[in-house]
Amino acid sequence: MAKPELMDYDRALELYEPVIGLEVHVELGTKTKMFSDTPNHSGNEVGGEPNTNIGPVDLGLPGTLPVVNEQAVRYSIALGLALGCEIAEVSGFARKNYFYPDNPKNYQISQYDDPIAFDGEVEVELEDGTVFHVPIERAHMEEDAGKLTHVGGSTGRIQGAEYSLVDYNRAGVPLVEIVTRPIFGGEAQTPQLAAAYVSTIRDIVRALGVSEARMERGNLRCDANVSLRPRGEEKLGTRTETKNVNSFRSIERAVRYEIQRQAALLAAGGSITQETRHWHEDTGRTSSGRPKSDADDYRYFPEPDLMPLRPSRELVEELRATLPEAPVARRRRLKAEWGFADQEFQDIANAGLLEVVDATVAAGATAAGAKKWWMGELSRIANDRGVQATDLATPEQIAELDGLITAGTVNDRLARDVLEGVLAGEGSPAEVVESRGLAVVSDDGPLIEAIDAALAQQPDVLAKIRDGKVQAAGAVIGAVMKAMKGKADAARVRELVLERAQNS
Ligand code: ADP
Ligand code: MG
Repeated sequence: MAKPELMDYDRALELYEPVIGLEVHVELGTKTKMFSDTPNHSGNEVGGEPNTNIGPVDLGLPGTLPVVNEQAVRYSIALGLALGCEIAEVSGFARKNYFYPDNPKNYQISQYDDPIAFDGEVEVELEDGTVFHVPIERAHMEEDAGKLTHVGGSTGRIQGAEYSLVDYNRAGVPLVEIVTRPIFGGEAQTPQLAAAYVSTIRDIVRALGVSEARMERGNLRCDANVSLRPRGEEKLGTRTETKNVNSFRSIERAVRYEIQRQAALLAAGGSITQETRHWHEDTGRTSSGRPKSDADDYRYFPEPDLMPLRPSRELVEELRATLPEAPVARRRRLKAEWGFADQEFQDIANAGLLEVVDATVAAGATAAGAKKWWMGELSRIANDRGVQATDLATPEQIAELDGLITAGTVNDRLARDVLEGVLAGEGSPAEVVESRGLAVVSDDGPLIEAIDAALAQQPDVLAKIRDGKVQAAGAVIGAVMKAMKGKADAARVRELVLERAQNS
């Protein structure tokens, strides 16, 4: 494949207006699948054995009938409301017919012309603080397909593979597909807007508790439609749809790449083919997938085995009343309450630790302390062990640890030992301080003893301090901290060293 021409990004923006449309699939974390009582283990979790979590309904075996999962309906309505959507009075299911080996029934039960939620708007804030309002066309319910693994090729795609494996564990997992209207006005920030939108959807979904929304596990998947409109023209350009870009960073890169690729093609007098495209993380490019027309014929027809949904207005209002604060509003509030700089705050959010820091502050920690532990020591240990920081400790434990520092019971270094004990299951922070004997010596008596001994051993340092060279005290402080096995408040030791040096 010849390397496709790319136009300089700024030049592309001078000539064309980028327009995007985003389709986000969210796997709902219900107990069972969308239309059956099969447990909802999507098969995306690590370690799930293939084809061990399938029922007759999921496979569409003769004689089986689907039953709508009530929890999935509640989650979908809540999600629709959080997206600012109207909730349909009547909303039906339809069969989307197509043959593909990951689709055991040869049709997917989806929603077509009457989605459960429609006409919404989501507020999205970019890292530089620019706010966009992204219009939502619809959010509809459907079931997920199985998962294909193409073996033998170098790319993991079907082309060049020797054979393919199919795992139906995911077949029938409840999904909501959220579709935006075409998004205008992002201009040069369009790639960032695309990524920020998907990350906002993740935050909304997590705040609602309807999905784990982990992109790397496929709980949240995004297809990015991109087109270019020549400046001054009314008509939208032809779009491409880049499939399943599975990180925020890749979404940004893929959209930027498509803008540059399409601009080069159009400027050279070429035309854009309406097609799906694949994103290649390694090369940072997209490549042609399959042609896709707006009139793809899926022979949709109403699902004859399911009644339309008529969610009562009481249910809708009940769910509306339980909606959490919108993520963008919540971030604004937390940033102000915690007093962090934009970047500090963004780092916490990017690390996925906003919730746990918030919970730790709520449990009594200082904001600075909560941030320090979760972003520092806990993240480092989690990284070493290949787990999530949030799996290591509870907000309450960290708040207690932070409280011990604030109270002067332990210093920073001892606190790390306390944490080690807590992570080793030795009990609460206070219990670990007790059992490991980690409290700092708050009584001046033993400190003065150690200081006098250290000063006696380092008469040259003593002389320097008396000469006013107080920075020389470091050596004595170090010796004292060592003698105390770290169990002293270094600031207090410093005070006492200076005092003793003058008075001894
Ligand atoms: P499909 O069946 O192709 O996936 P959808 O309606 O589900 O169609 O999604 C199409 C997405 O593309 C929507 O987000 C829509 O707003 C967006 N879109 C439609 N036309 C354009 C265009 N010309 N440029 C960019 N995005 C577009
Ligand atoms: Mg679509």
